Amino acid sequence: MRRGQGPSVAVVGGSIAGCAAALALRRGGAGAVTVHERATGPLDARGVGVALHDDRYAELAASGYVDASMPWVQMRRRRWYVRDDAALSPLGRDLWTTPFPFRAYNWGSLWRELRRRVPADVEVRSGSPVREVAADPDGDGVLLRTGTGAPERFDLVVGADGYRSVVRAAACGDVRPEYAGYTAWRGAFPVERLAAPGLWPEDECAYVVFPGGHLIVYRIPEGSGGGRHANWVLYTTPPPGHAPAPDSPVSLPPGTAPAPLRDHLAYVAAELLPPYWGDLVRQTTPEELILQPLYDFTAARYTAPGMALTGDAATVARPHTGAGAVKALQDATALEAAMSGTSTLSAALAAYDADRAAVGRTMVTLGRRLGRELVERTPRWGDMDRTELEKWWGGLDGSGAFGGRSLTRRTG
Ligand SMILES: Cc1cc2nc3c(=O)[nH]c(=O)nc-3n(C[C@H](O)[C@H](O)[C@H](O)COP(=O)(O)OP(=O)(O)OC[C@H]3O[C@@H](n4cnc5c(N)ncnc54)[C@H](O)[C@@H]3O)c2cc1C
Repeated sequence: MRRGQGPSVAVVGGSIAGCAAALALRRGGAGAVTVHERATGPLDARGVGVALHDDRYAELAASGYVDASMPWVQMRRRRWYVRDDAALSPLGRDLWTTPFPFRAYNWGSLWRELRRRVPADVEVRSGSPVREVAADPDGDGVLLRTGTGAPERFDLVVGADGYRSVVRAAACGDVRPEYAGYTAWRGAFPVERLAAPGLWPEDECAYVVFPGGHLIVYRIPEGSGGGRHANWVLYTTPPPGHAPAPDSPVSLPPGTAPAPLRDHLAYVAAELLPPYWGDLVRQTTPEELILQPLYDFTAARYTAPGMALTGDAATVARPHTGAGAVKALQDATALEAAMSGTSTLSAALAAYDADRAAVGRTMVTLGRRLGRELVERTPRWGDMDRTELEKWWGGLDGSGAFGGRSLTRRTG
């Protein structure tokens, strides 16, 4: 499409996928682009850590979606620890160390930099929840309603509105997120709060495994200054009677986790984690604790006439894949390529769907496989040696999709 002469577009959602999609659309030749974001203020005060595989970063940087001005902490190694009361180190027994070429970001600064890249001629409307999206009965376009007034018409509506997407509901009907059966407890706080921050090397991502789950810990930039936060996420099954409703998992924001769920975390920290990591979890205040029940799904297709889905609106894979933000950014590069390489909107949508739907399915399948082994049916960690662990991981991620599928190998 010739630059600026393509379709008029509304993007619903202004988070990672929405900002990247707005950039992609303008580069791909769209005409006027409007972003509707439900939240009223900037999003960067919320969020904790997010990791990007070095190779996926390089591809996205080459496409012009990320760059070195976004602060990160370089990780190089992943060390697997298990509690062993005979272990000499408070970190636990070192089971296995593997290369781990990932960049750790503070979600807030990643979003802020993407927001800065949204071209100035894109109209961003904050505090603008989209209530309804529907095909225009009088023509080709799509009608979008934000309030009680008349709907606006666009040639294309892009759903970047997360897992409860109104655009997905219009494009594909009812796609129900499926509850994984367990929860992520998350937190982040300044590393200086740890009694011995130096014991845990800066470039090391710790995978602390226990019966029925695991804890992942890595450092992230604290935000604007040069400090570091210890960012952690622990996956395990909540105690009986405290599972969320299966078809409507809702995260519990900081400060709202009920006592039985906090107590369960305290039990895991005291009884199942090595002392250093148990202390780290205990250092998190209730105001820093986030609970996120896990779920996944993928839309049957990424497009419908006049509509396209990106990021979590299209597919949510379990976070064990280490690729949620990568997938959203890659969707944007694919949207740009599809728009640039075709002359009609319907051809662009067909190319985009062919490119991304299979990747979404691959990541959901990988997330389920990893979740089964890392949480639902954990092996007897302490009995495994390095050779067995290598074989075990190879069986889980033989195709190497962990951290995100390469842009040069989009399916399979
Ligand atoms: C504030 C925030 C903090 C986050 N922090 C982290 C983190 O620390 N680590 C991590 O791994 N992931 C985090 N995530 C999730 C992460 O961004 C996504 O999993 C992934 O990057 C894909 O992003 P997305 O833009 O598709 O979805 P999301 O990030 O979920 O964004 C969807 C956006 O759409 C908006 N929206 C929804 N419905 C409507 C509507 N009807 N009308 C208008 N706008 C609507 C939402 O307000 C939201 O901004 C966070 C998301 C948000 C919104």
